[in-house]
Order: sequence, then structure tokens, then C-alpha cells
Amino acid sequence: MKKIHSILLTGVLVLTLFSCHNSNANNNENNNPKNKVNMKFEKVALPYATDALEPVISKQTVELHYGKHHQAYVDNLNKLVVGTKFENSDLETVVKESDGAIFNNAGQVLNHNLYFTSFKQGGSSVPKGALGDAINAQYGSFEKFQEEFNAAGASVFGSGWVWLAKDGSGKLSIEKESNAGNPITKGLTPILGFDVWEHSYYLDYQNRRADHLKELWKIIDWDVVSARY
Ligand code: MN
Repeated sequence: MKKIHSILLTGVLVLTLFSCHNSNANNNENNNPKNKVNMKFEKVALPYATDALEPVISKQTVELHYGKHHQAYVDNLNKLVVGTKFENSDLETVVKESDGAIFNNAGQVLNHNLYFTSFKQGGSSVPKGALGDAINAQYGSFEKFQEEFNAAGASVFGSGWVWLAKDGSGKLSIEKESNAGNPITKGLTPILGFDVWEHSYYLDYQNRRADHLKELWKIIDWDVVSARY
């Protein structure tokens, strides 16, 4: 009886030591930035089906652009910030304060989150409320604004974006940006951005970027975009 008791006690002791050792090992792993999987930055949920923007943007382009390109920017950013001062920053702060690879990926995460939420099936015809008034006041008419915006987008050299942005007083401007650029780095608020990287239109329009830009107006969700003004 005494022997059985002592075997049981030894067993409990061994189990206790083993479980403590294991939990220490897990804690050490979690505290080591190299082992941590950071899922801080996320891709915005697509607010429509992948075929909802056809024929302006094909299902295949949405699947590749949102599903592969945008996902890669998010995954890259989450890996790159581990162990840097940006690990606990919000996305806008990272875009404003970083450079190099972190800026490129953070900029593209912000840009594509804005881009993919600017559309809806069938679109809505014109900007609403204060944004519509500001566009008319500054550009003369919505049509004149569209012409200027399209011309700016068509003339971005290489990959980049064209943005409608506002400053602190509500004054609008059209901003051409290269690569991952966003007007937020100039202290402006982005309202609407058209992606002029070839990956956004080449499957559907090949080299006809200007035609693609003209078509995009048919799928703008002006409720969402006007609320950014
Ligand atoms: Mn893109």
C-alpha cells in the first residue's frame, strides 16, 4: 500500500513538472517576436460578390486583385512590422511615418481597403450632399471634375493612383501618386482613389487605361464615398 502511494505521488510530481515546463516553453515562444504570427492588419471585407462589378471590372480581375494582390500586401505588412516600432501602430500612422518596404505594403493595404469599398453593383449616379456641392463649386460641374480626374489618372507614369482628396478646410484636390502613394502623407484626406496599376485593368481593358477609368464611374458607391468628405 505504501509503495503504491509513493508511485502515485511520484507520478503526480512528474506530471506537474512536465506541465510547468511546457507552459514555460509556450510562454517563451509567444514572447519571442520571431515566433509570433501578427495578424494585426486586415483586408477589408468585400461588400459585394466578386462578379457584382461586371462588366466594368470582371469577376476574374476582382478575384485576382482582391484575393491575391491585396492579400499579399496584407500578409507582407503583417510580417514586416514584427519587431519594429510599427508593431502596435494603426495603419494610417504606419503609412504616414514609414518608408521602404513597410511603406509600400502599408500604403497598398490602405489604398486597396479604400478602393474596394468605393464600389457597388450598378453604382449610383452622382456624389451626394456636401461632397457634390464642393465638386460643383470647385470644378464647375460633376462632368468637368470627371474629365480632370480621368486625365490625371491617364497621365500617371507607370504604376500608381489618382485620388480625390480634401484638406483641413474641405478644399478638394486631385492628386497623382506613384506606386503605393496616398495623399494622407501630404496631410490630406483621401476620398476616392482609382488604381492605375496594370493589375487593376489589364485582363479586361489591356492597354486601354483611359477607357477603364471612364467606365469606373458606373460602379461608384457615392453613399460610401460622400461620407468620407
Ligand atoms: Mn491594385
